[in-house]
Amino acid sequence: MTKEQKRYFLGEGEIPTRWYNIQADMVNKAAPMKSPNTGEDITVDELARLISREAACQELNTTDRWIDIPLPVLEMYRYYRSTPLVRAYALEEALGTPAHIYFKNESVSPVGSHKLNSALPQAYYCKQEGATNITTETGAGQWGCALSYASKVFGLECAVYQVKISYEQKPYRRSVMQAFGAQVTPSPSMSTRAGKDILTKYPNHQGSLGTAISEAVELALTTPGCKYSLGSVMSHVSLHQTVIGLEAERQMQMAGEYPDVVIGCFGGGSNFSGIAFPFMRHNILDGKSTRFVAAEPESCPKLTRGKFCYDYGDEAGYTPLMPMFTLGHKFKPANIHAGGLRYHGAGVVVSQLLKDGLMEAVDVSQLSSFEAGLLFAKAEGIVPAPESCHAIAAAIREAERCKLSGSPEVILFCLSGHGLMDMSAYDQYLSGSLTNYTITNESIEQNVSQL
Ligand SMILES: *Cc1c(COP(=O)(O)O)cnc(C)c1O
Repeated sequence: MTKEQKRYFLGEGEIPTRWYNIQADMVNKAAPMKSPNTGEDITVDELARLISREAACQELNTTDRWIDIPLPVLEMYRYYRSTPLVRAYALEEALGTPAHIYFKNESVSPVGSHKLNSALPQAYYCKQEGATNITTETGAGQWGCALSYASKVFGLECAVYQVKISYEQKPYRRSVMQAFGAQVTPSPSMSTRAGKDILTKYPNHQGSLGTAISEAVELALTTPGCKYSLGSVMSHVSLHQTVIGLEAERQMQMAGEYPDVVIGCFGGGSNFSGIAFPFMRHNILDGKSTRFVAAEPESCPKLTRGKFCYDYGDEAGYTPLMPMFTLGHKFKPANIHAGGLRYHGAGVVVSQLLKDGLMEAVDVSQLSSFEAGLLFAKAEGIVPAPESCHAIAAAIREAERCKLSGSPEVILFCLSGHGLMDMSAYDQYLSGSLTNYTITNESIEQNVSQL
């Protein structure tokens, strides 16, 4: 460790200097990703054509348990980390539960969500390796905001494809990205072949993360000096997010507690992995028996009702084939307000962990997620992101179970972001115009049977 790194050594209220790579500790390693071109196992070289070489190495690293956080990234983490670990006394009281409820508040980052934890290292590695431009997709806009800001910090031009429905529903996130100097395009667009193909077939396509990924990947592959960057799903993104759980582990120690249940909402799995993996290592290595619960929307239930098989990460089939729980890459999620959770697949590591019974998944309807979010807001004074409301709903279910059994379990969840830019969604909920979306087994079967 260098002298500078020592300054950041995890001491009182300090931040971790290394990320935790759960791939090194998994008894059953995830199956390899396959090249979309050759069908062979994916290599660092092939991945590095698309993303930074360092991120590609991290993606395929199944041996190093700890990976150093580069100093310039630590300097930036320092602006908002460590984030608070809060005991939700008022929520406990509102529920009348004997459970101890804690939340890790990632909404205090400059862009309002956990996404910056991975945007910073990804932009940094691209710059280090000589890239001039970076491109990505974004759903609700949180990832786009985070990458736009991280690009500005490290001196890269940033182009963001935003899912069309979110571009229209959440105009302020687009403004934030533009404020940081990014170029934002609603997807599907006519600016790429993938976008054109989709619009020709479905002129009213509302966009999905799958379409936006196809467009960003195409731009990166066809533009010199341009790298692609992904805000979730990939294992290196989960790796970067482990700062959340590593800090929480230390903070829970300071509180004299250890969690019985750890909960995160689930889009592609990064905030869930971030809070869960550092604790899960003690289940794997030290015989702890903490439960890990991923909370997904009822309208996009890949973990609870999807199929485990090889599938593409995007609609057009440009990304590697990943062994994962999926609803099929052609699945069109309903237009729920938790835009960050509208993704058809789950990361390969999380998928393997779920398959092996190391974690659980539950689903939450749109209406019950907002109901939980408002209960939390009234108690704790923070309006949660619609995505985070799913974690809160799952935490409340656990707390109510504790109430019935009288057991004072310790529940920890990740508040992945605040909802101050999602107030139109709250308006709709409060005026009674939001609905639930359930999907039939037939429509799931129809999508996955083509894989
Ligand atoms: C993007 C996002 C999510 C979902 O993404 P994961 O990778 O599953 O964490 C959840 N909450 C917020 C606030 C987000 O911005």
